Amino acid sequence: MIIGSGPAGLTAAIYAARGFLNPLLITGNELGGQIATTTDVDNFPGFPNGVTGPELYDQMQKQAERFGTRTVFDEVVAVDLLHHPFKIRTTSDEFETKALIIATGASPRKLGVPGENEFLGRGVSYCATCDGFFFRNKEVMVVGGGDSALQEGLFLTKFANRVRIIHRRESLRAGPSLQERMKKNEKMQVVWNSAIREIQGNGAVQTVKLEDTRTGAQSETPVSGVFVYIGHEPNTGLFKDQLAMDHEGYLIADARLHTSIPGVFAAGEVHDKVFRQAIASAGYGCMASMEAEKFLAELEHNGYPDANRQP
Ligand code: NAP
Repeated sequence: MIIGSGPAGLTAAIYAARGFLNPLLITGNELGGQIATTTDVDNFPGFPNGVTGPELYDQMQKQAERFGTRTVFDEVVAVDLLHHPFKIRTTSDEFETKALIIATGASPRKLGVPGENEFLGRGVSYCATCDGFFFRNKEVMVVGGGDSALQEGLFLTKFANRVRIIHRRESLRAGPSLQERMKKNEKMQVVWNSAIREIQGNGAVQTVKLEDTRTGAQSETPVSGVFVYIGHEPNTGLFKDQLAMDHEGYLIADARLHTSIPGVFAAGEVHDKVFRQAIASAGYGCMASMEAEKFLAELEHNGYPDANRQP
């Protein structure tokens, strides 16, 4: 079984299906994972003219199903990995599996300021692809200084009059090519050394309270949309107290993607906090699947291995 439908999960499914492992993939609520909410993907090999995130997801999904992957459109709510075969419970069913690939990925980190939850879907968003259209001829802010903030900010200039990048420092983390594109775009502007402390409005976002991170001075600025791109947190809550994790909650896996429990493998951003690229996640999906195949072959001959093995 594979949990997760991003590039890691779908690539694992393609390999597992082609290896006649009869994979069953549980998609989770966020179909396609983060890539499905990404606008333009220009760095995935094989697409010289770029591809949209949803298109890439669609192609991978079709490819996985072409070789016999069974897809369950449901969310996993509980797992028992302490007994073999492992038990996986979704909202509507229960499954057993001899090997499990965890590709649950990571989700956008929240700002954690007053108004963020209240105005979610009413001006606050974590997905420019999904919500950009609603901000035609309006002003929006994008929080963050990484590649995601700039890439999605550039996308938002298709709709918005002005896109302000709100960044807490005075230099960007984003790569040079996106910085160049931003500089050339007249609709974009960076507000350096600034942080949003509160999001305010009446039914929809109207203003934000901005703080100068050097002086602490606060001001209120009118704006219609706040797009948050400040990194991610791994989706590992389901595996707490069962699998080894690091202090940030990422799964710990060895170089061959074995987690702390034999027969459970980690693929993609659920354990990779360094590369975080769709192509890297797809690679991890391939590796996890090949390791799962070896594990299943050994299981058949030698039975279940020592459960106390640590990565
Ligand atoms: P990221 O690189 O971790 O950047 C997060 C940004 O948010 C940083 O600028 C950080 O500020 C800021 N930040 C973090 N916590 C914050 C908080 N509480 N309040 C305000 N600001 C906060 O995340 P990302 O941009 O999502 O990128 C993730 C990975 O995907 C990266 O490896 C990136 O290269 C990759 N990616 C690549 C592309 C591409 O190649 N075109 C596109 C998208 C993403 P500091 O800089 O001060 O730490």
